[in-house]
Amino acid sequence: MNIEALTEAHLLSADAVFVSAMIVQKESFNEVVRMCNRLGKPVIAGGPYPTHCHGEITGVSHFVLGEAEEILPVFLDDLRKGTARAVYQAPERPDISQAPIPRFDLLDMNAYGSMAIQFSRGCPFKCEFCDIWVLYGNKPRLKAPQRVIAEFARLAELGWQGSVFVVDDNFIGNKRRVKQDLLPAIIAWQQDHGYVFRFFTEASINLAEDEKLMALMRDSGFNGVFVGIESPSPESLQETGKNQNLQVNLGQAVRKIQRYGLEVMAGFIVGFDSDSEDIFDRQIRFIDQAGIPQAMVGLLTALPGTLLHQRLAAEGRILGDASGNNTHHLETNFQTKMPAEQLRKGYQKILDTLYDAALKNYFQRCNRLLDNIGEAPLFRRSVRGAEIVMLLKSLFLQPLSPYGFQYVKYLIRNLMKNRRFFTEVVRLGIIGHHFHTMTRELLKVEQISRVLEMTYRNLSDQLRTYPLHVYDASRTTLAGVTDLWRQSQTALKDLSIRINDIHEDFRGEAIRMHAEFARRVLDLFQPLTPILIQSGVPVPFTESAAKQ
Ligand code: SF4
Repeated sequence: MNIEALTEAHLLSADAVFVSAMIVQKESFNEVVRMCNRLGKPVIAGGPYPTHCHGEITGVSHFVLGEAEEILPVFLDDLRKGTARAVYQAPERPDISQAPIPRFDLLDMNAYGSMAIQFSRGCPFKCEFCDIWVLYGNKPRLKAPQRVIAEFARLAELGWQGSVFVVDDNFIGNKRRVKQDLLPAIIAWQQDHGYVFRFFTEASINLAEDEKLMALMRDSGFNGVFVGIESPSPESLQETGKNQNLQVNLGQAVRKIQRYGLEVMAGFIVGFDSDSEDIFDRQIRFIDQAGIPQAMVGLLTALPGTLLHQRLAAEGRILGDASGNNTHHLETNFQTKMPAEQLRKGYQKILDTLYDAALKNYFQRCNRLLDNIGEAPLFRRSVRGAEIVMLLKSLFLQPLSPYGFQYVKYLIRNLMKNRRFFTEVVRLGIIGHHFHTMTRELLKVEQISRVLEMTYRNLSDQLRTYPLHVYDASRTTLAGVTDLWRQSQTALKDLSIRINDIHEDFRGEAIRMHAEFARRVLDLFQPLTPILIQSGVPVPFTESAAKQ
């Protein structure tokens, strides 16, 4: 659904519809279920969101909870026999060593920037906020290296070249097997196939302690790794049980990984109980000095099933459901120690600085990263047609964007200094556009929220100066109230125009705030309806309100 809208025609052609979702996709999940219900199609649901929350989900015919490999065949068998139950729960975590090869042939590969494969599930650590180890366990389960290689072969056979995301939550959960079995097999395959793939993955920071592992990753064709750094504050890391991050100097660890030719993309969190007022500046400084262009900063969120959720629930601090959105989202679902407004403002400051309107800071971090990667070896591969189109679009369109000056400066600098990485230079430039859009759109929504709040406060302050039930209002009162009503309607109209200008991915939140503001304005003016009617203003109140 990221690449093509789901239509009724798609659903009508199906016997049954299987839906899988993470918590962040729950709105879209519910919409699909509603569509299927309307069309009378049975829905079978699984994945992290149904596994955690199936009690609150309606409209689903059958749930298949937990990991599907072993329980799904049981369900399908019952379905065929007409005896399928409402809920199937995987009794234990399945052995994935011989998992089937995904049907990559069903994808429109040109619509994707990278393909995805998985080597392992589970993570040996127990971070308080994380649901990965809760869902998949602390003992990583691995696919046999030959299975992974078979997936590469299938992708290559289908004509894929370029980026492959190894989607493991912690690729180095079992370092020994990765070093001894998997990476040597990948190196051999890549050498035989002209290094057609570039890999990126996710790993814990203890990667930096293992030179052999980093060298093997580099020689396999890995060029990026996402690391959960979370915070430069040792107190916050300790609070959240991220002990592996306390064992190393985080800045040095990042630079060491970069020197093996691996871009470090990283996750950061604010909102820990131990976070002090200066945490926002410390995060900005750390990310800048470490040269991390792709820094995904989010507010701490209590996901269901995590230790954090249990602790906060016991302390009576849970305020609602988690959105599951861990970056560019301004709300959290629990009572934070730091006042909510301060946290929100500080978080915005981080985003606004990291991805400033001119992207100056972003490109500076790119430069730092590229200089750091320095002499790491490069494996040449041919470039896909879709990538050439992307490159040309970037070169033509980005210089004309609001950050165009910094972009061109960045290209020229790296054409002189890091020419052998030029494809990486352009790739980072394109990613900068993504972060720029995300941040600027989010800040537009935030600005609208501020304007709405200010307008409402102004209106209610001024209205308070008029008597509540007025039958024989003076001319001044009539004029004053009417003017305020007109102001409120003009504000609503102006803001609608601004909302239409927001990217559709962010518009929903602004529309919700706008509707809420309109409702509050009506409530505010309702007692003054007689005055507005006397002034001949058409007001959308109920008849009974008008008679008051
Ligand atoms: S290291 Fe990452 S995947 Fe593992 S428990 Fe911590 S946050 Fe989760």
